[in-house]
Amino acid sequence: MKALTLTAYKEFQFGEAPLPALGPDEVLIKVAACGICGSDVHGMDGSTGRRLPPIIMGHEAAGTIHSAGPEAGSWTPGQRVTFDSTLYCGKCHYCADGLVNLCEDRRVLGVSCPDYRQHGAFAEYVAVPARVVIPIPDNVTFQQACFVEPTAVALHAVNRAQAGPGQTGLVIGAGIIGLLTIQALKAAGCTKVYASDLSEARLALAKELGADEVFPAKTTASLKDEMLARTNGQGVDIAMEAVGITATVTAAIESVRKGGHVGLIGNLAQKIEFPLQLVVTREITLFGSCASAGEYPQALQEIAAGRIRVEPLTSAIRPLSEGADWFQRLYDAKEDLIKVILQP
Ligand SMILES: [Zn+2]
Ligand SMILES: [Zn+2]
Repeated sequence: MKALTLTAYKEFQFGEAPLPALGPDEVLIKVAACGICGSDVHGMDGSTGRRLPPIIMGHEAAGTIHSAGPEAGSWTPGQRVTFDSTLYCGKCHYCADGLVNLCEDRRVLGVSCPDYRQHGAFAEYVAVPARVVIPIPDNVTFQQACFVEPTAVALHAVNRAQAGPGQTGLVIGAGIIGLLTIQALKAAGCTKVYASDLSEARLALAKELGADEVFPAKTTASLKDEMLARTNGQGVDIAMEAVGITATVTAAIESVRKGGHVGLIGNLAQKIEFPLQLVVTREITLFGSCASAGEYPQALQEIAAGRIRVEPLTSAIRPLSEGADWFQRLYDAKEDLIKVILQP
């Protein structure tokens, strides 16, 4: 089969690769489309240590069932599917509790690290355990289904914040996860959702996707003051931090009301400074949110119903053979590209 392989850091080869071996409980999927994730771009130069070459990356994919192993249950060839990129074990106590993102034996498709190498979906075919596979509704395209993973990540964070009707929210960082989080907060019934980012282009997109007001990080003197001015001096109910550095985490904590929720999704920096007393004395609930745990069906529903729109986040849909160029363009970050989808 044809595949795009990271053969050395920052070097790709598009060519023949062996067809993945199909385990007894696995299905073989003919890939129709696969999105390039930020973690792939950050990983391609070795900086994250999670894309040790050689590796076929790619975990945001959709396609059709080609064949199924003897213990994979009943699948129809040609059936349209997507899958959870977290290949959870289904046996540990976290999996038993539905917290599959915390699985003790969690593998991520398209990742190679010292513990494992799991080839992904920048290829004609990919094999995944049947338990992570989900059928796609007829009115959701393969390209839309590539967004199910990041959409589930946003929904998981919003579910953890217990967002609901009548609440106010702030999203700091309008990258793909931030832009989906804005929409997820709106879909949950939040009346006002504000957004902040360095990029004016992304803020324009945030507005198009439902943010009520946006605040350019460069020109907004104090995000906290803007939030207080809009909430009778109280602060917003929920602040979602989708960057992960001291300045933005601090702004999120300062912008919520007493007893409010701050969701930490971004993790750019390993360590940050942290306004401890503000969190303690104002009884702020601070939580980390990683990947998703069962939100895939909800993500598909929201996309199918048009409550979460992903087309405006699609920067390009190109053949897999052009993958190396698109990885480089995303890596160089000179253009305001959001999601690039590759098709084998
Ligand atoms: Zn991803
Ligand atoms: Zn598990």
